[in-house]
Amino acid sequence: MIFKSRQEPLELTILRILNKRMELPENEKSYYLKLKKGYEGEQYFDSLMLESLKGERLILNDLLFKFNNTLFQIDSLVISQHTIHTFELKHHEGDYQFEKDDFYSSSGKKMNNPIHQLNRSETLFRNMLNNLGCQLPLEPKLVFTHPEFFLYHAPRDLAIIYHPQLNRSLKKFNSKPSKLNAWHTKLAEKLVAAHIPKSPYSQIPEFTYEELKKGITCSSCDSYFVDDEGKKLVCKDCGCEEDIESALLRSVKEFQVLFPERKVTTGVVWEWCGMSRSRKAVRRILNKHFKCVGHAQWAYFE
Ligand SMILES: [Zn+2]
Repeated sequence: MIFKSRQEPLELTILRILNKRMELPENEKSYYLKLKKGYEGEQYFDSLMLESLKGERLILNDLLFKFNNTLFQIDSLVISQHTIHTFELKHHEGDYQFEKDDFYSSSGKKMNNPIHQLNRSETLFRNMLNNLGCQLPLEPKLVFTHPEFFLYHAPRDLAIIYHPQLNRSLKKFNSKPSKLNAWHTKLAEKLVAAHIPKSPYSQIPEFTYEELKKGITCSSCDSYFVDDEGKKLVCKDCGCEEDIESALLRSVKEFQVLFPERKVTTGVVWEWCGMSRSRKAVRRILNKHFKCVGHAQWAYFE
């Protein structure tokens, strides 16, 4: 069962909204695409684990710990009766080469060796578990989740699971039965308590309200709705339909993610959503879903 689920990182949510509302600088854009791709790989792995794992096991996703003043991340962790498995997930695509303990992309660019990252986390996590009074053996694996990833010249003894080996690995995993007790749950609780929720690695570019494009975007293709003031909005690009109420509320959520310190007022939402509806229509929807605080021009919604 999932004991700690994975949420879309706030950094990715913000970049996703910014990407459709402003021209991201080249480096920010590629950083955004890298994050997005990584998250897709993680979601793929999570759903595979959830549908394949058998027996009593606790799954903890997306953990960030600090031990001995050093931060380390564990993408996915499974507590079984006699073992703790950790997974470092990579969603690289294309051809890579392993040479003298280093990874190279097909263009010859030297990459950080994810095995080193795995070993570093393993050492820190082993010490952290000892500190928590846990002596269960640790089995760390590096998982390449993309079906079109290939690593040339990789030694066979690396702790790697490649995409074509995933199903077999999970079968092997399931072949060892697992029964948990209160001690395992307690351990999972301690790990969740030690998790640092806000990543200090976040890189969010600077932006202002004024420079962002206003309007309501399509939930499936991100293009801007052309509002013909009907009850439903129809995307001219992908044909997706959404009623004005849910589309407007989605836009309000985006506004709140980008500007958590700003008050939600009728005027602000009216402008943010592209001013295609009357202020009255906007106020009616806000009144229905939020609590109105204050009166007249000082009124805001929360
Ligand atoms: Zn669309």
